[in-house]
Amino acid sequence: MNQSLPEVVMPSCPVNKLLEGQKALVTGANSGIGRAVAIGLGHAGADVVVNYVANPEAADAVCQEIERCGSKALAIQADVSNETQVQAMFKLMMETFGTIDVLVNNAGIQRDAPFDELTLKQWQQVIAVNLTGQFLCAREAIREFKRRGVNKAVSCAAGKIICMSSVHEIVPWAGHVNYAASKGGVMLMMKSIAQEVAPYRIRVNSIGPGAIRTPINRPAWETPEAYEKLMELVPYKRIGEPEDIARATVWLASDEADYINGTTLFIDGGMTLYPGFTENG
Ligand code: NAD
Repeated sequence: MNQSLPEVVMPSCPVNKLLEGQKALVTGANSGIGRAVAIGLGHAGADVVVNYVANPEAADAVCQEIERCGSKALAIQADVSNETQVQAMFKLMMETFGTIDVLVNNAGIQRDAPFDELTLKQWQQVIAVNLTGQFLCAREAIREFKRRGVNKAVSCAAGKIICMSSVHEIVPWAGHVNYAASKGGVMLMMKSIAQEVAPYRIRVNSIGPGAIRTPINRPAWETPEAYEKLMELVPYKRIGEPEDIARATVWLASDEADYINGTTLFIDGGMTLYPGFTENG
């Protein structure tokens, strides 16, 4: 039987409101990991801006699920690689929610090709969304965090940024050079911002997903043959689900993770453990 995308089904509303009273923005929040993260933050008590670039119906469905459990949600269309649109999105968020406490820089794309066939357009598209998009959103968030400072009633940090990176910030990836370069860039951008703004009590971290079942990598899990091949790279022998990332994101954004700054949390079933060495070497 072929694999299919799972529904994000959350039948009951969790009682643990780790992010009560916080305001969050998730980019690319109408699909895959971003969708699950936006719902997870909402269920944890945060009011959430659900950013999307296309398919407003999917963004509205995410908002409805967040509102069902008592948080506010607002869908805002913006291309994260466009400075004017990003600034307009943050302005609308400030007008509606008043401030921002958590930014999840999630939007990302792949445009794959063998290196000698990789076009400048494919290179620039991926760098524009995956790296420049994260820069533009992080800059707006940091401006607001520094302006507002710590509000102890809400969180002991002045703000939290979580960058959705990848195992490919450290694992080279043939045929995906633009993508790996963008995620390697995210790693040092995240660490450098974290170093710069830590004195303001702003925390900046990344999550490095391994293989997660979403539309971005459908060919890697869709057929039983592809799934079996993928499992050669995953010691834990199951694909990750978007909710695996969402649960960790909620925790990393919360005060429970207050002393964590400038690091990448890999959520990959052991993909970064060099599984090729298990019986070889
Ligand atoms: P996805 O394709 O389901 O979601 C990507 C989202 O980004 C979509 O909502 C899309 O509309 C949005 N997006 C694309 N371009 C945009 C733009 N210019 N402005 C605003 N939004 C834009 O894929 P996903 O797997 O959920 O990917 C989410 C993030 O996780 C990406 O950064 C991806 O690199 C990362 N990631 C995914 C995996 C995986 O196995 N699925 C592994 C490692 C990292």
